[in-house]
Amino acid sequence: MKERLKKFLKSIGIYHPLQSSYRNSLSFLRNLTYRITYNKYKGSGFVCNFCGAAYQKFVPEYPSPDIEHAINSNNVIAGYGENVFCPNCLSKNRERLLKDVIDHFLEIRNKKVLHFSPEKHLYRYLKTQANIVTIDISPGFYKTIDPAILYGDATSLQFEDQSFDIVLANHILEHIPEDLKAMKEILRVLRNDGVAILQAPWSESLPATIEDPYIADPEKQARLYGQKDHVRIYSLNDYVARLRAAGFKTKVIPCESLEQFKIHAIQEREVVVLGYK
Ligand SMILES: [Zn+2]
Repeated sequence: MKERLKKFLKSIGIYHPLQSSYRNSLSFLRNLTYRITYNKYKGSGFVCNFCGAAYQKFVPEYPSPDIEHAINSNNVIAGYGENVFCPNCLSKNRERLLKDVIDHFLEIRNKKVLHFSPEKHLYRYLKTQANIVTIDISPGFYKTIDPAILYGDATSLQFEDQSFDIVLANHILEHIPEDLKAMKEILRVLRNDGVAILQAPWSESLPATIEDPYIADPEKQARLYGQKDHVRIYSLNDYVARLRAAGFKTKVIPCESLEQFKIHAIQEREVVVLGYK
């Protein structure tokens, strides 16, 4: 019944907008609750690099029971932990990390940026400075963030070669069965002097990536890969090797170099992966 309703809503084009409004209402209520609850923790410790609010602690997020084993037993760096959401604006640690990387390592003013599956705070920050194009395979889901978002399949992008100075693919590739094809497409649309920020959830302890690209079983995907729409957990080494196989030159910035970002409540052991031509 649920699947039939979903199919019907999709057929008339309102499933993703409805899902998006529902999520927005939830996040509004959640934000309100956090603001009230965390008021007593205002002070020093962490500062949000989007809204500037300072708190002794941020809002934690832990893996739910159905994904807990996949995340914890494989030591996946996926954004969970003690200090995840800003209690004031609800920005997430992985958005704050990208803002730090952009602010410290890149020049974005007037640059042409391709932003996959745009995160709200990051998109709003970028659009004030750069010429930004957003894209997703289910654009309806992101219409409230950017009404101009385009439909696009990362394995077959509609853009000319060398269209973008910067590409942001923040937790995208672990969803895509043909990830190598998507990596090659990202490289193709990147300008010769461009840079791609290519974050994914990865494991430092897995000797190899575990995956089943054509699994199509959300419950099993949650249990094995830590999210119902993920098709793999990358081992960090293999992830970088795949980017190189796709033709990228890579720069891996380890967590020690990100020490300066810790004030923004970035996840422990986080690593940044940049891709170049
Ligand atoms: Zn904030």
